[in-house]
Amino acid sequence: MSFENLKIKKPLQRALENEGYTTPTPIQKQAIPHLLENRDLIGIAQTGTGKTAAFVLPILQKLSEVHKPSKPGVPRVLVLAPTRELAAQIGDSFSAYGKFIRFRHTVVFGGVGQGPQVKALSQGVDVLIATPGRLLDLLDQGYVKLNGIEFFVLDEADRMLDMGFIKDVYKIVSLLPVKRQSLFFSATMSPQIAELARKLLTSPVHVEVSPQATTVERIDQFVFFVDQENKDELLLGLLQHNNLKCVLVFTRTKHRANKVSLMLNKNRIEADAIHGNKSQNQRTKAMEDFKSGNVRVLVATDIAARGIDIEDISHVINYDLPNEPENYVHRIGRTARAGADGTAYSFCASDERDYLRSIEKLTRQEIEVAEHHYHSEKAKNATGDAAKPAPRKQRGSGERARPQKQNKPRSGPRNQRPSRGR
Ligand code: AMP
Repeated sequence: MSFENLKIKKPLQRALENEGYTTPTPIQKQAIPHLLENRDLIGIAQTGTGKTAAFVLPILQKLSEVHKPSKPGVPRVLVLAPTRELAAQIGDSFSAYGKFIRFRHTVVFGGVGQGPQVKALSQGVDVLIATPGRLLDLLDQGYVKLNGIEFFVLDEADRMLDMGFIKDVYKIVSLLPVKRQSLFFSATMSPQIAELARKLLTSPVHVEVSPQATTVERIDQFVFFVDQENKDELLLGLLQHNNLKCVLVFTRTKHRANKVSLMLNKNRIEADAIHGNKSQNQRTKAMEDFKSGNVRVLVATDIAARGIDIEDISHVINYDLPNEPENYVHRIGRTARAGADGTAYSFCASDERDYLRSIEKLTRQEIEVAEHHYHSEKAKNATGDAAKPAPRKQRGSGERARPQKQNKPRSGPRNQRPSRGR
């Protein structure tokens, strides 16, 4: 199966060759023929499956088939994405795949001045990629009109819901022409997502690839039971002794992301943090440094890491376990991109033990237990209140609570044999 078999036109094929892509991924094989036949589509697929090209290619093909002059502020295509990083990446995909096609696209998102975005819109735009908040601002000010939209894409719909964008999405959708082709992508399917899809789409084709379990199965996963106070040492040990080249570390709060990144710097490990309190420029720079290898470790919160698309991430390390088990799947899916294998290490302290249980239930896998210097039996065996974070009022300045009493680190490998996940 080639892109030619999928009836993708020559200029797009050339651009794909430039990118080094010769074989369509499963989501591309399944989605592209329906999209070329004007069908609405609901795609259950995670980032990493090639889903962006699955909608960008047919949209570009259709735009080029019925050429119209670009109009100021009146796009033909609207792609909504939940984060600025994802929006920017989708913009990059339009640039890459549309290299040999004449069209104009613009990405708009919040957190930066709107001047350059307004200017770009006024110069004519065919494809607008936007985060919901900034788009509504621009709509209110009259810089954009949605009455010319022929194709509407809602990307990472589950994230939109998680991040509280649902009202904004409905408001934007109410401004779209009824006659349009709509595409809807989500990594997960919940009743709320299904309802949103029902309201947006007309007789959609359903396409589903890489259900969560399959994606997770490709990734080597280990859990390190460790007391909170030993997590820094454990992380340093892993980074110093193992061949971890391009590492994404997750923490649960922005404060901890900063702290971990500083701690690594102090130990002469090139690291940077990205999270919502950083300016757009700082985030862009951190991503570029990470991509180019200047920075070996990127420390991120869940929201900041959404949609990060870096092909060479060798390891994901959960310094803190996520409180939502779905986020575990999203986090570790940052490694093992586009078919590669990856490794995920998770640190689990006593007060995170129940999070680990929820994760194993969701993924239907028992995660292999790593033997290491800081192994904590207390964390491994925690149950009841000891297996949960302390109640909120005991926590200080948005940081996670520390367990009351810690064991001293024990040296030497522990007796625990890893138990292989199913
Ligand atoms: P996505 O799921 O859209 O985030 O894409 C994941 C990664 O796969 C991106 O780095 C794409 O550039 C890459 N990709 C997309 N299509 C293909 C393809 N047909 N073959 C190989 N890689 C691809």
